[in-house]
Amino acid sequence: MKKLMIGLFLVSSSLFAKEIILVQGAMNIETEYLIKSLSNPVKEQVASWTFWKGEIGDKIVVVSRTEIGITNASAATTLGITKYSPDLIINQGTAGGHDPKLHAGDIVLAEKIVNVGAVRTERKEYGVPVDDKDGIFFEDVQRIRDSEGNTVDYPYFSSNEKVMKTAKNIDYKNGSVVVGTIGTADQWNRELERIKFIHERYGTSAEEMETVAAAQVAKAFNVPFMGVRILSNTDIHNEDFNPETAIWCQEYTVDLIKKLDLKK
Ligand code: SAH
Repeated sequence: MKKLMIGLFLVSSSLFAKEIILVQGAMNIETEYLIKSLSNPVKEQVASWTFWKGEIGDKIVVVSRTEIGITNASAATTLGITKYSPDLIINQGTAGGHDPKLHAGDIVLAEKIVNVGAVRTERKEYGVPVDDKDGIFFEDVQRIRDSEGNTVDYPYFSSNEKVMKTAKNIDYKNGSVVVGTIGTADQWNRELERIKFIHERYGTSAEEMETVAAAQVAKAFNVPFMGVRILSNTDIHNEDFNPETAIWCQEYTVDLIKKLDLKK
């Protein structure tokens, strides 16, 4: 009887347990609107990384300010997963345009996510000039060891299909919403030839500095992941960084969180 009661309790508590979503932004301007959207927020700080745990509708939402770049995003994602055991991680924020079709305000849903800074070169002798185009994608960087101890190479990481489907159906008025490729590196590129080169090699829609780190760590922990990036700037069209886009991306993300039903 006692065992049955405990069993029933476990089943019902998992059925009625609230979904936990970890939602990330690198900087203050990319997290402030999310934090304001939380009810009953509780702030927690671990070393460099800050989390705000609260609620949006019927979900528990933890906002994570990851800080800028791959190292920070990896650490913040690892901490976020181990501290809060999220059912989903959403990484969102600003990005720079790589696709000539896109303008500031457009949103890219990350179908593919790739570390565009992962590069190796073959040996060249002194006197042979440096040429970025001779760089080869260093796929070892995106290797994950699975639970059986085997390594698996990922040419790219992806967003969760179910979440992607919901994301495609969110109303958005400040630009278009496209499905595309996010290129991550500890880089901010403004040379048009370099942007064109990365776009042609990897098919990137936009560049930024965190998504692949969060996606890779999420994959290693088997936590569903979704990448949402807004173009805040694009040198292709001479559009400089517009901080308002960071708010638009968070508004979109809050709408997505409200609409999501991970149990379905
Ligand atoms: N100088 C600013 C921010 C620079 S870091 C400051 O100190 O506040 C850039 C951040 O914006 C990163 O988190 C990155 O993900 C994002 N980003 C936006 N546009 C970018 C671009 N064109 N290239 C690289 N990162 C970009």
